Amino acid sequence: SRDLGAWNLPFPSNQTKAGDWDHDFPLRRDSSKCIKCMRCVSVCEKNQHCAVWDFTGTGPHMKVTVREGLPIADAGCSLCGQCITHCPTGALTARADIHRVMEALMDPTVETVVQIAPAVRTSWGEGVGLDRTLATQGRMAAAARRLGFDRVFDTDFGADLTIMEEASEFVEYVKAGKKRPMFTSCCPGWVRFALQHYPDFAPQLSTSKSPHQMLGATIKNTLREQAEAEGRKLFTISIMPCVAKKYEAGVPQLSTEGGTDVDAVLTVREFDRMLRMFSIDCASLPEEGFDHPLGTSTGAGTIFGRTGGVMEAALRTAAYLITGTTLPIEATDCTAATPEEPWTSKTLDVGGMEVRIAIASGLENASKLLDALAADEVEFDFVEVMACPGGCVGGGGQPIAFNQELA
Ligand code: SF4
Repeated sequence: SRDLGAWNLPFPSNQTKAGDWDHDFPLRRDSSKCIKCMRCVSVCEKNQHCAVWDFTGTGPHMKVTVREGLPIADAGCSLCGQCITHCPTGALTARADIHRVMEALMDPTVETVVQIAPAVRTSWGEGVGLDRTLATQGRMAAAARRLGFDRVFDTDFGADLTIMEEASEFVEYVKAGKKRPMFTSCCPGWVRFALQHYPDFAPQLSTSKSPHQMLGATIKNTLREQAEAEGRKLFTISIMPCVAKKYEAGVPQLSTEGGTDVDAVLTVREFDRMLRMFSIDCASLPEEGFDHPLGTSTGAGTIFGRTGGVMEAALRTAAYLITGTTLPIEATDCTAATPEEPWTSKTLDVGGMEVRIAIASGLENASKLLDALAADEVEFDFVEVMACPGGCVGGGGQPIAFNQELA
């Protein structure tokens, strides 16, 4: 760990002391910064369907409020974070976790292990003004090392584990004749939305943990003994394009007797802020790889970053599990985007098994699909939902184009 010395730990202006840190609900609102532009109301109600935000009054008396005056954590929020990326003033922000990561980095008795999600490699350079030809995966790994993280792993390894689990579960699901469709479960925004707004479908969610939780558990299990023998504690950090994953990391049911799989989650904005804080000259960094063996992964893990990727990867593995051979890419290609339609659907031949699949991104689209399923208007075997439009590449923790400093 690097010696960071006495550092004035950064908090957003609406989170001025550690006591403001909310373990369970990592979305924050400072109504004094609200200019009543209604972007949050619009994106939450129309695009994401949670309808957390409401407004009262008209003209100069207009106020943006939480629906029915509820405490925000009880208002049905999925924590997708889309309101944050649409708020032009920073009235809505994600909980800051930089100070917790900094404390771990400064503590010589702590070994810090960071993992970086697939969708981060597409966007991390934006917040540090890096030309996209320079914002490579290799420089991203190098930048994480310059911040002082002891080991740098790729969440794609965890995505590969999720694929193996989810595909095996789907094959068992079909063999056991369970009620279909089975839904993917790697997006915590979607899972939170389903549990709150469509609980009848909850038993049909895959039981697989999301990729960063899987990798966090693997890191703790494989590295803890060695770290403890050296008199150090492990502290695992995820850099994610996501706000909901800050919440997911603290869900008690996902922890084991060994504690949480992931100790802190940083958004891409927080990662970029740390790089700016330490004046890391990212353009001049060499290309470096992830640490092995948990930095090794397949392309199937990488495509988790966009809508349809989880389904495609899971179907490839399901086909392999059934037939013992790989299918041509065209046979499981799920990339056909249909922006005019709320969901994409296909019937595929997976190793002689007819599989009807559907893919939706954005929770308004997911609602339409779930309503159609509930009304028996459509039938599917396997459904992928990602809460954010386009999947994690459009995540609520990604850089904000109009002002990087706000969230
Ligand atoms: Fe997080 Fe990705 Fe789900 Fe958005 S789509 S809530 S970024 S996991």
